[in-house]
Amino acid sequence: MKHTKSEALYKEAVKYIPGGVNSPVRSFNSVGISPIFAKKAHGSRITDVDDNEYIDYICSWGPLMLGHSNEEISKGIGEMIASGTSFGLATEIEVEMAKLIVDAYPAIDQVRMVNSGTEATMSALRVARGFTKRNKIVKFEGCYHGHSDGLLVKSGSGTITFGVQTSPGVPTDIVKNTLVCKYNDIEDIKRVFEEDGEDIAAIIVETIGGNMGIVPGKQEFIEFLRKICDEYKTVLIFDEVITGFRLSYNSSLEYFGVKPDMVCLGKIIGAGMPVGAYVGKKEIMEVVSPVGPVYQAGTLSGNPLAMYLGKRNLEILRDNPQIYEALNEKADKLEQGIKNNLKKLNLNYTVNRAGSLVCLFFKEGPVENYDDAIESNVEKYNAYFKEMLDRGVLIGPSQFEAMFLSYAHSDEDIEYTITCNYESLRAIH
Ligand code: PLP
Repeated sequence: MKHTKSEALYKEAVKYIPGGVNSPVRSFNSVGISPIFAKKAHGSRITDVDDNEYIDYICSWGPLMLGHSNEEISKGIGEMIASGTSFGLATEIEVEMAKLIVDAYPAIDQVRMVNSGTEATMSALRVARGFTKRNKIVKFEGCYHGHSDGLLVKSGSGTITFGVQTSPGVPTDIVKNTLVCKYNDIEDIKRVFEEDGEDIAAIIVETIGGNMGIVPGKQEFIEFLRKICDEYKTVLIFDEVITGFRLSYNSSLEYFGVKPDMVCLGKIIGAGMPVGAYVGKKEIMEVVSPVGPVYQAGTLSGNPLAMYLGKRNLEILRDNPQIYEALNEKADKLEQGIKNNLKKLNLNYTVNRAGSLVCLFFKEGPVENYDDAIESNVEKYNAYFKEMLDRGVLIGPSQFEAMFLSYAHSDEDIEYTITCNYESLRAIH
């Protein structure tokens, strides 16, 4: 495969953009090659500027449940653009979107739209602090909640890949209020609450850890979070930026049967547009300005074009529950296929899956938390990534990211991926 145009663009890009990319996870630095530049994408396929085509498992890092450029979603967007791209006034479609989200997540009552997952988590924590009048928050090692100051502590995703889990530039005064616990470790949470419980405003958690590879939260762990939050009157926030509308139409609510007090959403609710939302129980959301004193605002929040596409995406998912069944089947087929390949090759690596999120860890034995995840053989993963890319399969350029399946991935795509997985594993062992 030739990457001549991508390489030339990269040379130009690094002159003007740090690392040549507008988000570190797009850089292929971690795997030691220059990144591919995308030209177009449709369904499960993405085409780069050199006209190489790949089966895409990055899928914009999660928003595209129905695959790229879905015509059903974008039908009518031309007329929307023609009638105005942003008004700075409330619009009908924001109300419809909020109602759609509340109907899908019966634990919560109100929605505030923002522009990214980062804004959603940052704002949710401010609201939780305003509501409880407390300072501290609890997060988990290896979970990523966007790049706001207080959350870039022992973080996940690109911060693991690039070795900056606790980022320089974040004042220690801010992160002293961020308490970090081990994922899936109930005793560690007990310890933190015994020490600081009366001042803990919120626990924020990815119910399925999706930023240290895929590390599902254990049922008893998620249930315990609810219990301890009830005991200490702490706000339980599910960060469902990845899992929202992906695990099921009712997100973690259905998957775990545990009700949070607040939820952060992003990705799928924007169908590829820059969108996030924080949502919560009415009594909590009423502290938000202009009803209450906690300030949070946004020039482009609830942007009509973003709402239009996001709403279409959610409506299709709501009206076609078979999409979730089919996606689970596809993901199961991929998981089993990879596991069979490992067996055939006498490799004892671990495959984790939650719904349509799949991760092959180059690590033997269970991966249940960050400590397990980082035992993975990153060099092997990087070599595997390159082998897969050469065969026309695009996965995340980091061991610590998920494979995102979409409804557009066909059985043939999955079968071809399983074949490439076998050949790639064989080539590097
Ligand atoms: N929360 C989670 C769980 C995420 O995975 C991400 C991004 O991947 C974020 C928050 C931040 O979202 P954004 O990149 O839209 O700011």
